[in-house]
Amino acid sequence: MKSLMRYMLGAALALATAPPARADLNVATSLTDLASVAQYVGGKHVTAQSLCRGYEDPHFVPAKPSLMKSIQKADVYISSGLELDNGWLPLVLPGSRNPKIQPGAKGFVDASQGVDVLEKPSGTVSRAEGDVHPLGNPHYYGDPKALEVVATHLAEVFSNLDRANAAEYEANAKAFNERMEASLDKWEKQMAPYKGQPIVSYHKNFIYFTDRFGLNMFGMVEPKPGIPPTPHHIQELAEDMKKSNVKVIVYEPYYKSDPSVQLAQRVAGVAVEIPLEAGGLQGTDDVFAKFDKMVSLVAGAYAGKAGGSK
Ligand SMILES: [Zn+2]
Repeated sequence: MKSLMRYMLGAALALATAPPARADLNVATSLTDLASVAQYVGGKHVTAQSLCRGYEDPHFVPAKPSLMKSIQKADVYISSGLELDNGWLPLVLPGSRNPKIQPGAKGFVDASQGVDVLEKPSGTVSRAEGDVHPLGNPHYYGDPKALEVVATHLAEVFSNLDRANAAEYEANAKAFNERMEASLDKWEKQMAPYKGQPIVSYHKNFIYFTDRFGLNMFGMVEPKPGIPPTPHHIQELAEDMKKSNVKVIVYEPYYKSDPSVQLAQRVAGVAVEIPLEAGGLQGTDDVFAKFDKMVSLVAGAYAGKAGGSK
């Protein structure tokens, strides 16, 4: 109780004495997860905001003038890389008229640098295969380990731009990665009973998660990336799922729930809305809360529908 009082007093003091909100680095990102990592690494020296909200489709963000304006004063722009934001960022960045954050400038960061990229296509890529990502699957933020790579990278970037606080950025990234490792231990334990279990995802954006936790990616609700399912595709997928006893389907808040819910009904399974991006669902404002929620939703789906039924 005493320590709580002291904490509250401390918090009140901190509020009263906090300097006006003027961070050393003004950071903007394409994804909420990147803003969350940037905030952890930057600590009090950084303010980070994401242009795409966690409940918006990161492939298709409307390139509104308000977005361009919001990054006019940014010192750093952190792109997802791997062309995930390629449909809108090439419009938004020049529209900002901010030379500091254009590709090639010191303030432009490709967050995918150093990440182990899955599904790199071999040979030529045809648009007939749907809205494919020719540099590999860009949804790496579904893997906690990938965010550790991002944190280390961002500490370097921030240190280069703001030498005075370099030691802090490095220490913050280290603390972030340690917390992520400890959390990953916890999540792996939660997911362990479901190793090898099949799962269906609306879009091909869940493979980093399934790869990390040893789930078996059975198929997608979308027949091809970016192409909404036809009734025929749903029918066929449902038949395949029944044959293989696949019961769990995941989809994000920015996809229509109907096809996933219909599928679940047909296979007597469960369709779960998950926050693949931080802020996708309530109470998932940072990357730790996001993974907490995703892991408990997915594990809960197996426990309720698929896990014990065999
Ligand atoms: Zn995608």
